[in-house]
Amino acid sequence: MIMFRIIMKAALRQISNANYLKSNSHIKVKLTPTQSALKLASELLSSSEAHRRQELGEALLDELSDCAGIDVVELVVSDQNQAHRRSGTRIVMKKYGSYRPSSRTINISNRTAARGQILAPKSFLDTLLHEWLHHYDTHKLRINSIHSKGFYDRLSDLKDKLQIPKNRVSRG
Ligand SMILES: [Zn+2]
Repeated sequence: MIMFRIIMKAALRQISNANYLKSNSHIKVKLTPTQSALKLASELLSSSEAHRRQELGEALLDELSDCAGIDVVELVVSDQNQAHRRSGTRIVMKKYGSYRPSSRTINISNRTAARGQILAPKSFLDTLLHEWLHHYDTHKLRINSIHSKGFYDRLSDLKDKLQIPKNRVSRG
């Protein structure tokens, strides 16, 4: 029994190691965005309302999934504050968005955690692409999508391909 457990542990470690290596080895996304994807990304950068972002975001993700040759993902943009956790008065955790592989759904809150202000367009688009990349990893690369260096390389390649202007945005 103990021997079995040791073997199982070693096997699991190998699987997660292989997953990590594979996640790190892809530094580019395998897709060429269409003109309409570029247009949608740029329109998102001047959007603000949740319903508008829902509409544009959904269309962009459909385009991207098509370009990558994978199934579409559902997007739910809510007009609520980001889920967060406080320690005293300080916010210690904010949730920008989430991707649930089992239901193929991306959830994004359109308002900041503390003041409930509308998310800056760049933060919204950043979150949208970040979460979609988890979907890409799951269905295109067929890996357990993790925040490896390769993941962030792919994300930055995707943003370059969508011609999104570079300036740093803080993201949790
Ligand atoms: Zn993530």
